[in-house]
Amino acid sequence: MIPYFDAHCDSLTAALDSGVPLDSDTLAARLDAGTFSKREQIYAVYGDSNQKELSGLLERAAALFVKSDKRPKGCLAIEGAEVIGCDPMRLKSAYEMGVRVTGITWNHANVLSGSCMEDTRRGLSEVGEEYLERALELGMFIDISHLSDSGAGSVISRASGRVLASHSNSRTVCASPRNLSDYLYLRLVEAGGMCGINLYTPFLKSRGQATVADVVAHIRYLAGLSGSVANLCLGCDFDGCDRLPRGIGSAADLPLLYDAMIESGFSKQQTDDIFYNNLYNFMRR
Ligand SMILES: [Zn+2]
Repeated sequence: MIPYFDAHCDSLTAALDSGVPLDSDTLAARLDAGTFSKREQIYAVYGDSNQKELSGLLERAAALFVKSDKRPKGCLAIEGAEVIGCDPMRLKSAYEMGVRVTGITWNHANVLSGSCMEDTRRGLSEVGEEYLERALELGMFIDISHLSDSGAGSVISRASGRVLASHSNSRTVCASPRNLSDYLYLRLVEAGGMCGINLYTPFLKSRGQATVADVVAHIRYLAGLSGSVANLCLGCDFDGCDRLPRGIGSAADLPLLYDAMIESGFSKQQTDDIFYNNLYNFMRR
């Protein structure tokens, strides 16, 4: 049995779309009690500007979260502030519904900031700064995974100890704008932030089928860059991505990655830290 605390999945969206409860065994981020000694999950509520049905989405997601009690324990996250109309004043009611993490953009730019894929040179706007301040006042963590580099830089400077890239890898190892540059990763580390390794194949490897060795390569590179594994965790993106490394179909297959970490020379302590302890300690700040 292995411990596993994951920083990002799209199971809420998948469950809402397919009409199953969040503790359904059909979801990839499922509890799978036989595999895990400890299991926690941050559940993203995804919204972006091209989506029509945003009104009431957070309420529906929160209701499903509360109703499904055999799921991994955890909290809600907003992925794309469009979920609450990019309105800083709505963060408080989101907090009351169980949201503890908020991103600012998804892949589309919005009034708060440019994203990593659109309007990429634009950082936080005035209302974006206000959104950030309000979220921090409420005690939320800020997720920079889809944000523009400039927006991410501002968040890192302001949200010391409360900033994470919930599902992003190394841009040096795999050149995707969704991954972190060395510069941003080192700034994230300096700010006591956390980076969740994503299992989506195009963020692991530019072409071809990824394997768990590619996941280990990102972890090894980032750990080498900062000199420690202290700022790394997993943000597997289960139920949000269809191209996973060979042999991984759901959370139940994660022992394959765990064993690959140990075989490639990481200690059991380092592996447990990445799989569980680092994110656990970070989220309890
Ligand atoms: Zn995402």
